[in-house]
Amino acid sequence: MVYLKKMEAHGFKSFADKADISFDAGVTAVVGPNGSGKSNITDAIRWVLGEQSARSIRGVKMEDVIFNGTTDRKAMNYAYVRLVLDNASRTLQMDADEVHITRKLYRNGDSEYYINKERTRLKEINELFLDSGLGRNAYNIISQGEVDEVLKAKPEQRRGLIEEAAGVMKYKLRKKESEKRLEE
Ligand code: ATP
Ligand code: MG
Repeated sequence: MVYLKKMEAHGFKSFADKADISFDAGVTAVVGPNGSGKSNITDAIRWVLGEQSARSIRGVKMEDVIFNGTTDRKAMNYAYVRLVLDNASRTLQMDADEVHITRKLYRNGDSEYYINKERTRLKEINELFLDSGLGRNAYNIISQGEVDEVLKAKPEQRRGLIEEAAGVMKYKLRKKESEKRLEE
């Protein structure tokens, strides 16, 4: 199974100094006082995986993820997050033991994504994680309230979750895309 080895963040929310957080395979607990940035870690993980909704990462507009300064520290003009994933299992379809995913956002709205050192598009990142059980819409991050949501979900939404887990989502999306092309 692929696992998260490391997260680097710089200029993302409260991470004004470059944060370099390593994880071991297995269980990790993050502890700290209120407001110390624990939830900002999961926000950063969601964000680098392509989160497009500022609200899902507790902001109003996307620019809110950029460190906005404190009384003695000036605001930054970009936010950067990189994940290092252990892919020795080849769960992600790339012939590499480690996969790096990077996202950078500038205050002027320019945004960049990278897979390893290659500049890429969000679509490629989504494709890479599709059916892997990872990715921003997968079930790898479960926040408060989401367990309730699953319980209350309509049957077709619940089916979507099962399909993602079973690994058939990729084929459904491809089918949809080719049907769209046929119509055009
Ligand atoms: P709790 O235990 O209450 O859940 P937490 O450890 O999860 O707290 P976070 O919510 O991760 O804390 O961090 C909140 C902190 O992040 C606040 O101090 C807030 O000011 C800071 N923060 C959020 N966005 C930015 C930003 N753009 N620039 C600077 N600081 C930010
Ligand atoms: Mg929190």
